Amino acid sequence: MLTSRFFRRLFIPYLLLICAATGAVGGYAAMRMTTAYLDNTRESLNNEATLVGQMLQPDLAGHAEQLQGRVQQLGQSLSCRITIVDSEGVVLADSEADPAHMENHRGRPEIALALAAGKGDSIRHSDTLGVDLLYLARTLTAADGKTYVVRLSVHLSNLDRQLHLLYAALAGVTLLAIGVAAAFGFYFASRHTAPVRELADFAGALARGEMNRRLLSGGTGEIGVLTHSLNTMADSLSTLLNDSEKDRAELLAILTSMSDGVIATDTHQRVVLVNQKAAELLAFSHDGAAGRALWELVPNEPILRTAGEVLERGERRTFQVSLIVGRYLEVSACTFPAEGPAAGLVLVAHDTTRSVRYQELRKEFVANVSHELRTPLTVIKGFTETLMEGALTDPVVGPKFLMTIQKHVDQLTNLVNDLLELSRLEGLPDLPRPVRVDLAAVARRATELLQPAAQKKSQGIALDIMGSTPRVLGNPDYLERAVTNLIDNAIKYTPEGGQVEVSVGQENGHVTVDVADNGLGIPPDDLPRIFERFYRVDRSRSREMGGTGLGLSIVKHVAQVHGGSIDVSSTPGSGSRFRLKIPVPTDA
Ligand code: ADP
Repeated sequence: MLTSRFFRRLFIPYLLLICAATGAVGGYAAMRMTTAYLDNTRESLNNEATLVGQMLQPDLAGHAEQLQGRVQQLGQSLSCRITIVDSEGVVLADSEADPAHMENHRGRPEIALALAAGKGDSIRHSDTLGVDLLYLARTLTAADGKTYVVRLSVHLSNLDRQLHLLYAALAGVTLLAIGVAAAFGFYFASRHTAPVRELADFAGALARGEMNRRLLSGGTGEIGVLTHSLNTMADSLSTLLNDSEKDRAELLAILTSMSDGVIATDTHQRVVLVNQKAAELLAFSHDGAAGRALWELVPNEPILRTAGEVLERGERRTFQVSLIVGRYLEVSACTFPAEGPAAGLVLVAHDTTRSVRYQELRKEFVANVSHELRTPLTVIKGFTETLMEGALTDPVVGPKFLMTIQKHVDQLTNLVNDLLELSRLEGLPDLPRPVRVDLAAVARRATELLQPAAQKKSQGIALDIMGSTPRVLGNPDYLERAVTNLIDNAIKYTPEGGQVEVSVGQENGHVTVDVADNGLGIPPDDLPRIFERFYRVDRSRSREMGGTGLGLSIVKHVAQVHGGSIDVSSTPGSGSRFRLKIPVPTDA
């Protein structure tokens, strides 16, 4: 389209120029030819008039009829009209009309001119003959001394016919010249516009992103230089585009693999870049997020307000937000680039849930430990003071108080031991140097260890080992500690005369150790929490029994470091059943 317009702009003015030049030359030639033709005719009429004058000299003074006859004869032989007029304008003879019927010719322009200057001519319509004529008149003096006018005239229709033929030939030649010039013009315009059209097509292709197209060499002229420049430009563009694609891919890869959420916006807070993690942390859909306004994705007042302020003032801000219950984020907002006027805003959201939760747990743990330590220490302090104030010498209360102190010291020792055990277990990512462990033997040892405690409460304790069980991979001390804790609890929370059953079996690739009792049982509301540190259903009863509230936490950690689990089912008033499951290694 562009190039065809270019072609028209080049070709049409050229064509008009050719037409104008050829037309002007043709018109001028026609004009010159007409003038020359008329001049020639006038010249020959003048010569003929002179000749006719000389030939009629003897007849002028003679008889009128004789003169008329002579005039007709000469008119025929010269193929022109001859008129003889006297100095008064009276027509004496005429080769083509009857002079008796002709009016006075003194007023005719050529006659008037001839009478005045000796010679005159005019082109006009003849009233006598009814046609256009070229008249030429000249005076002559007869032998009688009178002045006569000889006028010769020719029909212009002949002249016109000849001129028309001439014009037609001239027009034909002119048209032919225009046609040839137009054909050449068309050819040269096409030849010159074709490379331009190619360049325009190429530029269009580059604009559409077709970076692999190149132009063929355009020779050595200006088009050649332009072709070379465009090809070089396409090479540079292609390299730039590839580099920027590569940078973009790298940036996207980095953003995707980041553990922090990143959102970049323009100065109008319209999102230009966002990673999956940001969508996850700030609770919006990643699909179609780019291009939307920040407030649409994150309708959070503190974030939007801070974003606006940072864009306005260009300073960095870090603040805490919680968009999802139980999830804490630290958001940093700054403008980019670091130097100069802001082109946009970058928000980086870091998930601090774990560290916040860790802080909370730490606080809770310190509070719990302090609380657990305070009770026995207060008791020990109180009894020690009473003893020091004199009770020590009292033979009845002295030993009783000392036994109470010892009981609370034992409690403290248990607590410290359990805490140490728990922190050791919690610090273990994997089991150090695991060995093959026979859980049936572990259960047997634990049962034997606690037999005296059961007997003390007149409880029956039974061990049931169902067939031979494969060995598991683990730490025998930890596993024994876990089974002991479970049996110890069963004895503690089962009244006198109750029954404790320990059974070892297999289930779905695991060795199971079940510890069941017919004791107090655990209310359903407490069941999910009994494995938490320091959680007790009945705090004072646990303490009375020498419990620390850490026994089941230790069991849970032992199960976890062995890749196993601990489950519980219980009915208040009827008893509880704990099941420890440790996986059997595949090569066992
Ligand atoms: P404790 O040192 O208090 O026994 P544990 O962590 O071992 O702490 O147990 C947590 C709580 O679970 C106990 O205080 C008790 O209330 C409950 N519990 C544990 N085992 C039993 C059981 N066999 N029967 C009834 N309640 C139990």
